[in-house]
Amino acid sequence: MKASVLFEQGAPLRVEELDLEGPREGEVLVRMAASGVCHSCLHAADGSWKGVPVPIVLGDEGAGTVESVGAGVRELQAGDHVILSWAPTCGRCHYCVIGRPNLCEKRLPGRGLLPDGTTRMALGGKPVYHYGHVATYASRTVVHESSAIRIDPAMPLDRAALVGCSVMTGVGAVLNTARVPAGASMAVFGTGGVGLNVVQGGAMVAAHPIIAVDVKPARLEHALALGATHAVDASKEDPAAAIRRITGRGADFTFVAVGNAPAVGQAADALAPGGTCVVIGVPPTGQTFPLDLRPLVTGERAIVGSSYGSARTREDLPRLVTLYQAGKLKIDELITKRYGLEEANEAFRALAAGELGRGLIVF
Ligand SMILES: [Zn+2]
Ligand SMILES: [Zn+2]
Repeated sequence: MKASVLFEQGAPLRVEELDLEGPREGEVLVRMAASGVCHSCLHAADGSWKGVPVPIVLGDEGAGTVESVGAGVRELQAGDHVILSWAPTCGRCHYCVIGRPNLCEKRLPGRGLLPDGTTRMALGGKPVYHYGHVATYASRTVVHESSAIRIDPAMPLDRAALVGCSVMTGVGAVLNTARVPAGASMAVFGTGGVGLNVVQGGAMVAAHPIIAVDVKPARLEHALALGATHAVDASKEDPAAAIRRITGRGADFTFVAVGNAPAVGQAADALAPGGTCVVIGVPPTGQTFPLDLRPLVTGERAIVGSSYGSARTREDLPRLVTLYQAGKLKIDELITKRYGLEEANEAFRALAAGELGRGLIVF
């Protein structure tokens, strides 16, 4: 199996031929069709997120075809088209049972292991870790069966790949976490791969206005094309003041789709009384920010986190596919550029430079 491997944080990825063990009980082997290039993987590669185990195969967003299944797998078979989910679920813990499976207690986030606590990949007899339980920068990968969500085979797999992380995270923050009602005002800080999906989530529920905030004019243009009604260039004006000017009283919902603590301060500052700030981007390890607490109390404002768009993957990933097929969810328009596996470093460079809506590695 061929994969793009991170041997050391801060160093470039290298394509290697790895040994891949077959699926064990409750696991499936997937032949990858495409993988999105996600900011979380860039943070893992450039070292801004600490403690990533190496060597590791990155990639937490992808889709492919099931090639074989391990013992006990009853709901998937060879040939099934699947979207990979970086949040495997046990179906039995407290959070799975109360309908918040994205918080499953059996996950081992950040440790680079499958849910049974081991790896299936090796190089020269030494273990290679799985990023996000799925390791999608690989021609083939082994995942827990709950990380492989079957979809309609008519759905193009390269488009399906993006549903697995950025679309779910962005649209889900609007539909599942915030439950934005029609006519509510909202602002989106950061209109990269996830933020663009927050914008189109807002358009799907008929939020208005939908204000895009970014420092790159090209990204603001992209947001306007996906349903934003206003664009604010935060390098030219104070975004909170601009949002108050456009909405009158502040925004009912603000979303922070960049991993940047000062942006959370601005997004909280831009809230109307009774408003909710939804934090999606994961800041660098240890980053904090002082917050003026008084407006939170007196105006009953809230700040909440949203992880993976509060995904209930078995329900939500096929639902998003259906919405794409019905023409109500845009994915083609998100994809800026396609790369081969050996071009992952160039994809990271373009992502860091703000040149990409979404980059896609195709196999
Ligand atoms: Zn991701
Ligand atoms: Zn669970």
